[in-house]
Amino acid sequence: MSNPTKILSVLVNVRRQSPGSSKEANSWMARCPAHDDSTPSLWIKHDRVKDRIVLYCHGPCNEGQVREALYRKGITSDDLGGEFRTNFGSKIQLVYPEKPTRTETPIEGCTLEQLAAVKKLPIDFLQEEFLLKDTTWRENRRTTPAVLIPYLDFQGNLVTQRYRVGINGEKFRAPKFQPMLYGLWGLKGLEEGEQVFVVEGESDTWACWFLKRAAVGVPGAKQWRSEWAKYLRKFKVIIWQEPDEAGKYFAQSVTRDLPGSLIVKATKEEKDISCLLQKNQ
Ligand SMILES: [Zn+2]
Repeated sequence: MSNPTKILSVLVNVRRQSPGSSKEANSWMARCPAHDDSTPSLWIKHDRVKDRIVLYCHGPCNEGQVREALYRKGITSDDLGGEFRTNFGSKIQLVYPEKPTRTETPIEGCTLEQLAAVKKLPIDFLQEEFLLKDTTWRENRRTTPAVLIPYLDFQGNLVTQRYRVGINGEKFRAPKFQPMLYGLWGLKGLEEGEQVFVVEGESDTWACWFLKRAAVGVPGAKQWRSEWAKYLRKFKVIIWQEPDEAGKYFAQSVTRDLPGSLIVKATKEEKDISCLLQKNQ
């Protein structure tokens, strides 16, 4: 359970936000513990629905830095909430985005609700099977909604993550991303010789799982790495080849390491599995 009272007790110059508007309910301003703050610039909100504390520094700090400063004052991640469990019982600590570097492209933002609607997949399914979460992305002094996409290992432990920051245009942000196969935790419990689809990207992995097909996603058409073949050798691998040059390259690089894989060549009309799913609904 998050504990706003304990958090407020370690902060200085705490002021409750005027309770006039519902948006400001359960929120406070205080001096930010992560930088030399003369004016109270830390916004603290108790999100009762998600049972977590939202921290936002109007100064130079990102949420991770504020959390770190709070940890030093005896605040635990339990006090802050925002921790969630995987299906396999391991705990995941959310990691918040770094203050991003300046880019010219504006980020349109993306919520889980929007993403689920575009992909024609239920929100519950994406939350439960893939632990997708609404979060925010801050870039060029703008905060936009974003979806946190955790990458778990075979055991279900968090290894790395990406942020979906837009539906069209700029789609991803991934500071400190460690390239790995997406959906590895879904291979646990599969028998030798079972079919596993190898697809491009996260959303096709979602679509496959939704269609009750085992699948792993390569984070991009040109991102396949030979060392990943070890996870797939005992399965009957089916590669989903998209109808473009990148798709061809993708299928070739996977079959080089996994000869004997079957290639399904998608047509232009059914470019990826999500398209196929959308067409069949
Ligand atoms: Zn600060």
